[in-house]
Amino acid sequence: MTPTTGAWDAIVVGGGPGGSAVAWRLARGGARVLVIDAARFPRPKLCAGWVTPAVWRALEIDPARYPLTIQPFSDATIELDGEVLETSWDRIVSYGIIRREFDEHLLRRAEQSGAVIRDGVRVTGVVRGAGGVRVDTDGESFTAPIVVGAGGHHCPVARALGEIADGEAVVVTRESETRVGTDLLRELTKRCGTPELFAEPDFRGYGWYFTKGDFLNVGIGCLGDGKDLRTGGGSGRDLHRRFDAMMARLRADGRLPAGLELEPFRGHAYAVRIDHPRRAAGDGFLLVGDAAGLARGVSGEGIGPAVESGVLAADAILEANSSAATRYAVAIAARFGSGRPGVAGRLLGGLPHAVTETLARTICRAPWLRRRLVFEGAFGME
Ligand SMILES: Cc1cc2nc3c(=O)[nH]c(=O)nc-3n(C[C@H](O)[C@H](O)[C@H](O)COP(=O)(O)OP(=O)(O)OC[C@H]3O[C@@H](n4cnc5c(N)ncnc54)[C@H](O)[C@@H]3O)c2cc1C
Repeated sequence: MTPTTGAWDAIVVGGGPGGSAVAWRLARGGARVLVIDAARFPRPKLCAGWVTPAVWRALEIDPARYPLTIQPFSDATIELDGEVLETSWDRIVSYGIIRREFDEHLLRRAEQSGAVIRDGVRVTGVVRGAGGVRVDTDGESFTAPIVVGAGGHHCPVARALGEIADGEAVVVTRESETRVGTDLLRELTKRCGTPELFAEPDFRGYGWYFTKGDFLNVGIGCLGDGKDLRTGGGSGRDLHRRFDAMMARLRADGRLPAGLELEPFRGHAYAVRIDHPRRAAGDGFLLVGDAAGLARGVSGEGIGPAVESGVLAADAILEANSSAATRYAVAIAARFGSGRPGVAGRLLGGLPHAVTETLARTICRAPWLRRRLVFEGAFGME
């Protein structure tokens, strides 16, 4: 293994939205940046692909000029106990994109800004030494004064920092995305182009049926813990039960007719910012996006937090250099909170589940509260 030292101001591990945002902004600021991703881009990514206006703003992209699949929407529904609750706005409040396209677009934009991209290269180890942080791959090693971990939930940088804990709060998911064609989508649902959500009766998760351009994205996610997934019990089993019930409902109401072939459903779990949050930085390391466990607890929204933390990480590196880690940790706490429940959270957490369920039902049923607290609050629609 030949160590390659001195050439980089920063190395970014992972080229998803978080990693691309850091690399784009650092390279634009004149830094020498290397991005390493295990996958060859364009690569598939399990995700419903719902992005808020804040994401486009942070990326400085005008969504009207985005050249790939984009589905603006100004309505959304939640199905609760069999009743469809509709919310409409007089403007576009969010967008649907296809992650394979979106992530490739952002990574190539970072490259055009001057970042060097090495995709199809897996990072196998990250070690802090006297000359900086060394990043090992199967064939080569690279060194830089600072390494940004943007490798998602299992990021090797987060692992090196000891931040991947047993039993942390995660969202467990199953999802399939299929190019079905707009004409057929219009036959399948009268709400084509609008996200349709399905609240789980105990409010520990929700399903979605999201039509975007030619694509149908169907999935479900619920809160669980990572430990259960490894033993094949607990939240993994719970998710399958919820998934089967949702599929039966979609088949029964004609949204998933027998002849419709979907891409195979796949599963993934990722940390959310509840209870024991991951540290965002250590000596020579910054973590962004899922690597830092920044996704929102109620909605599971993770693209916005990944992009926004990427921008904060790049700014901390450009402005503070040797004290970037401290500055970044402060910026993350200011933007995303401590990740630990405050007074209101502790009070709510102490209530019996039946009471919080009743409260959640009341919020969903009241049009103003649903709009403000659910869609605009938890889902970040504007
Ligand atoms: C089913 C599902 C639906 C979702 N729906 C939404 C949604 O609608 N809206 C939303 O905002 N969020 C959604 N999310 C969450 C969102 O997908 C993530 O929060 C987001 O992708 C985080 O971005 P990231 O850049 O941190 O990580 P990622 O997008 O996971 O990117 C990490 C990158 O690191 C690379 N990598 C990993 N390990 C290594 C290694 N050892 N060496 C080199 N590279 C490595 C990977 O190949 C990958 O490209 C959903 C998630 C799931 C699972």
